[in-house]
Amino acid sequence: MKPAPFKYFAPSTVDEVLALLAEHGFDAKILAGGQSLIPTMNFRLAQPAVLIDINRIENLFFVREEAGELRVGAMTRHRTLERSSTVSRLAPLLTETMPNIAHPQIRNRGTIGGSIAHADPAAELPATMLALRARFKLASASEARWVEASDFFIDLFMTELQPEELLTEIAVPALPKRTGFAFKEIARRHGDYALVGVAVLLAVDEENICTDANLVFMSVGNGPVVGEQAQQALLGKKASAENMDLAAAAAASEDIDPPSDMHASSDFRRHLTKVLLKEALQTAFERAQKA
Ligand SMILES: Cc1cc2nc3c(=O)[nH]c(=O)nc-3n(C[C@H](O)[C@H](O)[C@H](O)COP(=O)(O)OP(=O)(O)OC[C@H]3O[C@@H](n4cnc5c(N)ncnc54)[C@H](O)[C@@H]3O)c2cc1C
Repeated sequence: MKPAPFKYFAPSTVDEVLALLAEHGFDAKILAGGQSLIPTMNFRLAQPAVLIDINRIENLFFVREEAGELRVGAMTRHRTLERSSTVSRLAPLLTETMPNIAHPQIRNRGTIGGSIAHADPAAELPATMLALRARFKLASASEARWVEASDFFIDLFMTELQPEELLTEIAVPALPKRTGFAFKEIARRHGDYALVGVAVLLAVDEENICTDANLVFMSVGNGPVVGEQAQQALLGKKASAENMDLAAAAAASEDIDPPSDMHASSDFRRHLTKVLLKEALQTAFERAQKA
């Protein structure tokens, strides 16, 4: 298949991109790694009249520490994040997540900004960004604003990004002391989109009472799903195997409403959620005690 005809722009500054977005808005699409957009254009599921290629904008490619936080430019490739020592020091949950995304060839091209903006409910990065309480910088010709990950993902492939806005930067706060993390997923083959995945942050005090729990699931709803009931089952309680079992049961029965499709039934996804969350909580707890 070939895409429908489109006009192509390859600007070299963010200001030029924002001017093009202001002019073309709804008719335009940003081209980042192209790993999701190009297939949908080839199948004519997307037919943008204007394509704005941001691969030449050097200051969208960066990984750095700023005021104790991890800051990442939207065009940073998955592979760069996977191999970055700055990422593994400040956001080890992100390092653990990256190898689960597709295959190396796709990770060489795909970008963090593209994955977040695309908001596929089966994608790893939206769930991990929510678990890490990341913020996203959205710029338009008239203003720039920071949006919390918890306000950004709205529905199936729907986000807070407006047609005239570009996602330019991602900020990830460093983990507080005695906070552990874990990312787990199950896919039919390594590199496939996951049947279910979970990204976990868990903090405990010196008595191993749970002081923070941020549990996010993927592939079980229209976007990344926060396990609110599971979190309540842990907060203020001992991080015991019994309470982790209760949290996993609450997640599977109350927090998620997974779809059935050709890959897995809804019941099987609930079962996987329970098993994966239990494993992830145990790993996060062990790490929290040493952090
Ligand atoms: C075979 C295959 C398997 C894959 N498996 C997985 C997987 O297991 N897990 C997973 O998470 N992903 C998977 N992907 C998708 C891959 O991770 C993509 O990298 C990602 O979805 C999109 O990133 P991209 O940079 O390629 O974005 P693009 O495809 O270029 O863009 C995606 C969308 O985001 C918009 N966009 C991009 N950047 C910006 C920006 N800075 N500001 C505003 N809008 C923007 C585009 O306009 C477009 O609508 C797979 C892809 C393929 C082809």
